[in-house]
Amino acid sequence: MEESKREVIFPPKKKRDKEKDGVNIFIADYYSDLEDVSWSNYLWHKRYALRHSAYAWMAILGKLKTADILSTRGINIPAACPFCLEANETHNHLFFECDFSYSIIRTLLPRLEFFLMRPNILQLFDYVAGFQNFNEEEKSFCFLTLCGTIYYIWRERNNRRFSMSWKSPNTITALIAKDIKLKVYNWKNLGRLLNSFPAILSDGGQIFVATD
Ligand SMILES: [Zn+2]
Repeated sequence: MEESKREVIFPPKKKRDKEKDGVNIFIADYYSDLEDVSWSNYLWHKRYALRHSAYAWMAILGKLKTADILSTRGINIPAACPFCLEANETHNHLFFECDFSYSIIRTLLPRLEFFLMRPNILQLFDYVAGFQNFNEEEKSFCFLTLCGTIYYIWRERNNRRFSMSWKSPNTITALIAKDIKLKVYNWKNLGRLLNSFPAILSDGGQIFVATD
């Protein structure tokens, strides 16, 4: 594991300092020796969704219990990726070497289709962060979508492994889009977001309209 990956803080420092309750003070103290890293802003931006960012954080750090990691602990589950059933299940494969995962994020954010090789999570975040013509809110929207996609892919992986329940990439894509719509309906520049992200914010040709 790279040093920079191990040193990221969780939860975010700014948020943490404002918390008064004992649990968060304990967490703050526990992580007080750790330094912030540049990519923490991709997860803990102004509009983050805690559950989605938390799973993205674990995925970046390689802390999800994928088959390869479980195997090193003596816990054996089928090694194959539950989506393509071809490659071994690892963090890099799930996010986003696998055709299944990559097709979802590419549908949601079509600008991400220009990679010659399959990107990993940080490469996707870095790529979004470098978009010259996106403002901060549009970048936050992309970060929110990336984190939500990681969460939903991991949830689908667990459902396939443990609940014998399978959803198609189209269904998962629709679930993520629905979730994102609910989170952004009150964002300030919704009109600009509607133009920038029609794949998520339009629905069967109908553009999503915020309601109070
Ligand atoms: Zn796969």
